[in-house]
Amino acid sequence: MVKKLLFYFFAGIVILGAAGCETVPIAPGASRDLKVLCEQNNVQSYLDNVSQVVNLRGAGREARAMVGSNVVVVDGEKVFLADVLRRERGTVIVPADFLSKVILRLTGSETVSRAGYQIVVDAGHGGKDPGALGRRGTEEKGITLDIAQRVKRGLITKGFKVTMTRDRDVFISLEERTEIATRVNADLFVSIHANSSPSRSVDGIEVYALRELEGAEKHDAQRLKNQRLLYGNLKMKSGDASLETIIADMLYNYKVSDSQLLAAYVNKGTSLGARVNSRGVKLAGFHVLRNTLIPAVLVEVGFLTNSQEELMLRQPDYRQRIADGIVASLVSFSAR
Ligand SMILES: [Zn+2]
Repeated sequence: MVKKLLFYFFAGIVILGAAGCETVPIAPGASRDLKVLCEQNNVQSYLDNVSQVVNLRGAGREARAMVGSNVVVVDGEKVFLADVLRRERGTVIVPADFLSKVILRLTGSETVSRAGYQIVVDAGHGGKDPGALGRRGTEEKGITLDIAQRVKRGLITKGFKVTMTRDRDVFISLEERTEIATRVNADLFVSIHANSSPSRSVDGIEVYALRELEGAEKHDAQRLKNQRLLYGNLKMKSGDASLETIIADMLYNYKVSDSQLLAAYVNKGTSLGARVNSRGVKLAGFHVLRNTLIPAVLVEVGFLTNSQEELMLRQPDYRQRIADGIVASLVSFSAR
């Protein structure tokens, strides 16, 4: 189904307007006709008549919107409009805020505001689940919660909104963690863990991003539940299966590519910031990576099974360095 849609996506493209004329920005509300708006702002737009996806391109940036829905992905970030895009007598009619939220960002004349950018910080394990154990008895759940709280404080001082999946020693299922991210409509998900290995000599940080999912994995019960939660947050016709599939697919494609980019930022920023050996970026299908619908990474901050690293992770200063590295990475990623 997805492959078929993608085929239509590339095969059924119709040129709506590829303007080469002078750029004359217009006032918000002046036109709701997408073709006119694009021509006046030198933005190229293509409507796929089959999928009803509108592809927009301008000043090296891209956006993808969907007739019948109010979600637009602009430069890898999802944006919610005040109303849905409609089709009227062959033209696409956009809501008034389409100019400021999409078109002007594509022309580079509107800078991206990260004021509402929301990050979910997920402290791994908790409660009855201690996670990995060090030789000195250090429990992973305590290390992850402490670093997560430091990351939260750091992000708030940088102006981000932060939601924690847990802020105390309590058990939260993996399913709930992904649901929290969906309910609060977050932009990024960062899960914090500490590692273990049968070999005591192994050390360093690792950052995981989602690998490409197989067809069946995209229909995991929790993923479908989160998608329904997401559709409930959108303005769109309910029960339109093909519209839902296209939106899910559009967000999935951005999620995979942005997660890998985010992982590269976090790996570099954290290993440099904390002056720790990096084992690099790895791809995996962990539950919280697979079933969140937004860019997500899982950071393994070090090996509790390595005596030296366990000692380091027991020091508050070192945990702060790790947290500062993660925060700096997220700041650079969101400002890219
Ligand atoms: Zn863990």
